[in-house]
Amino acid sequence: MKGIASFALCAALATTARASNTLYLNFDGATIAYVQGGSDDARLGKSVTCGGTIAAWSSSVGAPLVTPAQAKRALTDRVRSDYLPFNVDVVTERPASGTYTMVLVGGTSKDVMPVEPANIAGVSTIDCGNLNPSNVVFAFAADLPPERGGLVALAHAIAHEAGHAYGLEHNDNPRDIMYVVQNPMQSLQQTFALQFLAGNFSSYNGPFGTQAEQCHYGAAGNSAANLLVAVGARADDGNTSPVLTWDFPAEPAQAVGLTLPLIAYANSTSTQVHFEIYRNFELVAVSDSAPLSTTVTFATGPAFVTVEAIDETARRSSITRHFEFDRQAAALCTDSCASGLVCDSGVCKRPFGAACAQSSDCVTNLCQPFTDETICSHSCGNNKDCPNGYVCQSSVCASPPRVHSGCALVARKNPFSLDWWRWFLGLLGVFSVQRNRQMARITREIIVGRQD
Ligand SMILES: [Zn+2]
Repeated sequence: MKGIASFALCAALATTARASNTLYLNFDGATIAYVQGGSDDARLGKSVTCGGTIAAWSSSVGAPLVTPAQAKRALTDRVRSDYLPFNVDVVTERPASGTYTMVLVGGTSKDVMPVEPANIAGVSTIDCGNLNPSNVVFAFAADLPPERGGLVALAHAIAHEAGHAYGLEHNDNPRDIMYVVQNPMQSLQQTFALQFLAGNFSSYNGPFGTQAEQCHYGAAGNSAANLLVAVGARADDGNTSPVLTWDFPAEPAQAVGLTLPLIAYANSTSTQVHFEIYRNFELVAVSDSAPLSTTVTFATGPAFVTVEAIDETARRSSITRHFEFDRQAAALCTDSCASGLVCDSGVCKRPFGAACAQSSDCVTNLCQPFTDETICSHSCGNNKDCPNGYVCQSSVCASPPRVHSGCALVARKNPFSLDWWRWFLGLLGVFSVQRNRQMARITREIIVGRQD
């Protein structure tokens, strides 16, 4: 697995399975004492691999867009999914009694291996045959932001390092959790779907170079078979994985807007199903309601979107689709859109008569330039009328020619020019003054006449 390496020190050869195997994910941080010789002791915080202080896990590195509780559940569930076929119980609280394998989740490799190479996702002893029920292993969460795999890679790193603690070695199967080769080749979908499977032994040991086979099982690269021997199989509870149907949207051929409505159904034999939504390897949303009906805003650019349905036993189903998110592209919709837009066959578009830039903006699939405007229009003629207020012009519905009002002031020498009206109004004023003076004189004469 890219970015995941192990550090193998132990070479015990026997094989034994216990009644139960508890895998404790320690998110709280701890100081681990490095002990030379002897063996790991999770209860006492002793490791024969390395020592130091690991800070408490911060979900903001691997999953900054969801709450810490959502990130912790998603991470824990994925580790549970990885170990679902096996007799391993994944817990997040330190067991009060009994033995357990502890995974320190957090920090970086430099916290416990200051002189070793950087960019190591985890470290563990290879406990051949799972002889020690109390191993301590490390998964360096602070080295795994979303662009390096986020919670998905971290969960598999935890499963991988715990796998070493259960006696597994590396193999060359890119679909296997124990996959490690010098030049890893995995698709995003393969990384989501990693399992304990079968492969051939791989001597590659990350930045530590190569490592000879240590445990000498019948098939060193067969993770699933060796894990079954080491820890046993989980009892069958009769449930099956949820059947996931991602109803909307289908994978689009064109770019879509950043706001994406998602509708998915999950038929499950379990009572409770929840959904996780990823942009590439970044957990961007969680929904506890089934069926899934939510709207998620994505960052711009090309991305794989993965919808997963997970039941309460951590059985899961995934569907991944590719999207090109573009702020300028039309938003997808199920029924409603932003103001001024209408939902048309799953896409928010502009209605007839609205301003547009390109034909794909329009419900009518025609963005037509006219003299004064460019609007969503449609063809007309052949008994296809235009809406009220529009005329059929050259076989396309257009706004009626605009009639400009007389209030426009144009400096031209014509009868309606401003100068003419000033002159005309001036004449009226003179006439009015003269007429008033005449009327005043006549009135005065009448009054004078009366007085006379
Ligand atoms: Zn490894």
